[in-house]
Amino acid sequence: MEVELISVGTELLLGNIVNTNAAYLSEQCALLGLSMFHQSVVGDNEERLAEAIQTALGRSDVVILSGGLGPTKDDLTKEAAAKVMEMPLKEDKHTRKLIAEYFKNSGIKTVTENNWKQAQVPEGGIVVDNDNGTAPGLILEKDGKSVILLPGPPNEMQPMFAKSIFPYLNKLQPEMICSCMVKICGLGESYVETQIADLIEKQTNPTLAPYAKTGEVHLRITAKASDEKEAKKLIKPMVRELRKRFGDYIYSTDEHETLAESVLKLLKERELTLTTAESCTGGMLAARLTDVPGASEVFKQGLVTYSNKAKRKLLDVKKTTLKDYGAVSEKTAKEMAKNGAFVTGSDVCISITGIAGPDGGSEEKPVGLVYMACSLNNKVTVKEYHFQGSREKIREYSVVRALTLLRS
Ligand code: ATP
Ligand code: MG
Repeated sequence: MEVELISVGTELLLGNIVNTNAAYLSEQCALLGLSMFHQSVVGDNEERLAEAIQTALGRSDVVILSGGLGPTKDDLTKEAAAKVMEMPLKEDKHTRKLIAEYFKNSGIKTVTENNWKQAQVPEGGIVVDNDNGTAPGLILEKDGKSVILLPGPPNEMQPMFAKSIFPYLNKLQPEMICSCMVKICGLGESYVETQIADLIEKQTNPTLAPYAKTGEVHLRITAKASDEKEAKKLIKPMVRELRKRFGDYIYSTDEHETLAESVLKLLKERELTLTTAESCTGGMLAARLTDVPGASEVFKQGLVTYSNKAKRKLLDVKKTTLKDYGAVSEKTAKEMAKNGAFVTGSDVCISITGIAGPDGGSEEKPVGLVYMACSLNNKVTVKEYHFQGSREKIREYSVVRALTLLRS
């Protein structure tokens, strides 16, 4: 079954707003196992909208539109769809009642006339209640095809889709697709790929696909089944097998959980507080950690000690250490971590010092050489890394590696 999207709104064409509705709806349709080959954006113009709907109906089974269902003159989606589907607009009593209730509950006494326009629905259409606004959604069916109209505001569209449209589409489609992301850190992409070569070779349902991210490898497991429960049953043994093979290198099986989030979760479970002492990453690690809401429960302080003077002053790195071994050295990294934990009173301190380039490298200490040390209750471990690539890449790798180190 083929589905296609039409996002309605002149503000989308002008780039005033980002088309997050299309992203959400595409993801949901993929989850449902629906094929999508076309998406378009049309301004608030009835003629062009009707033309777009007509074209879409010529090649797809389901056409989903978002936006332009509101009360104002530029909201024309319903009018255009009604014309194409040859379903004249008629007032729906149930919708009128809901609109009246919505305004009453919102404490609005005078309802302007144009609001009643939202109670007009194409005759024979299925009305989908809007729990978060006044414009109802609509499903118009004709000759085995469906046109689905959804309100533009994401906080109205998404709950409506989840509650009513997802089940409607799921019924049209005998099979649904469900997926799970297994996230790995600390292992290289090629190593992971060779370890799962046999699984990829004999895959049918579920399927397994690796995606490489800087310093991480994500494995997407995708199953096809009649419902979500059945799909999850198919996915479970594959997750178990991957856990057997990669153990603690798997930091999450949650699509939305980041590496930083998993680090903070782990430290919180162990009741440990954290400080960062960064040189070449200039606070990027602290930024990544504080991207996570609630980080303050674990994360105490981020020290950016870029110059030798700052390393001495804020982290008490010995003058002789800097002179004899240099800022980028095992010894400096160790002192940064150990003293960082001490001066901030944290249980854990991670330090990063390295040469991000493009200048500043030497034969002895090339660009990409990075030392990281981790102090846990005064016990310090140190690691040496040789990263390749641009300044941006080296710094990004350093952040991911530091997070990986914190998990181990
Ligand atoms: P309203 O009743 O608010 O007028 P509507 O169904 O008529 O809703 P639009 O007028 O097209 O929808 O859009 C209203 C608002 O919803 C936009 O200003 C924008 O904030 C948001 N919106 C609309 N379309 C999208 C989209 N494709 N992606 C993200 N946000 C959107
Ligand atoms: Mg509108």
